[in-house]
Amino acid sequence: MTWQPKDELASEVALEVLIHGPLGRAELARRLGLAPATLTRISAELISSGLLAEVPEATQRTSGRPTVPLDVIPSSHYFFGIKLTDSALDATVIDLKATPLESYRVALESTTPTHVVSAITKLTRRAQSSYRLDAVGIAVGGVVNAHGTVESAPFLKWHNVPLATLVTDSSHLPTFVANDLSAYTQIQHWFGAGTGHANFAVITVGVGVGYGCVANGARLENEDSGIGLIGHWPLDPLGPICSQGHRGCAEAMLTTPAICRDASAAVGRPLGWHDVITLATDKHPAVTTILAASGRALGRLVGMVASLTAPEVVIIGGEGVALASLSGNSLAAGIAEVRDPRASAIRITLSNGSNEAWCRGAAAIALQGYIATGSTR
Ligand SMILES: [Zn+2]
Repeated sequence: MTWQPKDELASEVALEVLIHGPLGRAELARRLGLAPATLTRISAELISSGLLAEVPEATQRTSGRPTVPLDVIPSSHYFFGIKLTDSALDATVIDLKATPLESYRVALESTTPTHVVSAITKLTRRAQSSYRLDAVGIAVGGVVNAHGTVESAPFLKWHNVPLATLVTDSSHLPTFVANDLSAYTQIQHWFGAGTGHANFAVITVGVGVGYGCVANGARLENEDSGIGLIGHWPLDPLGPICSQGHRGCAEAMLTTPAICRDASAAVGRPLGWHDVITLATDKHPAVTTILAASGRALGRLVGMVASLTAPEVVIIGGEGVALASLSGNSLAAGIAEVRDPRASAIRITLSNGSNEAWCRGAAAIALQGYIATGSTR
């Protein structure tokens, strides 16, 4: 099975059903501004080509003609999403509805491109023994160009590594590579809290601070997006110093290593992020104070992002997402400090901060690339 709708209109219909399905034909025609007869013709073509199927309606309509919604067939396609870091490959297989089916993790003994490509190829073969994969997506913390070349990745110490080409050649599967924040934003856009919103922003907190934006229904990106430009925004004039010497920037205030460092110093023993969460839940005074300052800084960042990019929703995610819920009223206080009181309330959604969420993002990049290129197997 390949994803090759006949023309652009058919692609639009298939994509709308993929993201928002199941959908009835009348609803589809309304969403896409198509005449019912046109939609009927296109949907018949998509059904006969096996891309879409009629599915039983979940709820019985009490009157009028019964409608038979259209949906994609989840098991018709599988995608493999890999999050590449300096220590491991985390990977997840998803189906066409982005449902995670199986996850994998392998440690990396080295980060040389040769070793990483070989490890990715081995892991892909392992997944292929259970799933007929259509494409591979790889998410990397760094600057990635449109051809899937990693131009720079500080954690891996890589410069100009043509990762997509190398993995395509060794795995014989279409491979797409993207910055990890782009991947995370893509999964939110099509299958997460951003679905149905033409404008939304993503802020992630973890080892770094990330920002993604969808404007008018498309990811807003340029060649500098992978640098992580939000990382050194000033958020607290009295905060600690970051690696670049800034006082109270996003890196110094919001990253989990920075918070763990400050909490360890305050408590007098080394603390990991989970220890910090436990102490904060137990209302440990020093840890609570540190998290309150970080939460306020996060609130300021959310407030600034909301003012600059007019999102309908701000999604906060990443492995440090607990900061948003643990810092009590500090998040709201931080927002209030930078937002005009006449402005409407910012809608905030907290998203999953797990490894699987990043891997699903990588797989969504594979899915998107596969659809865009009409890949054939
Ligand atoms: Zn800084």
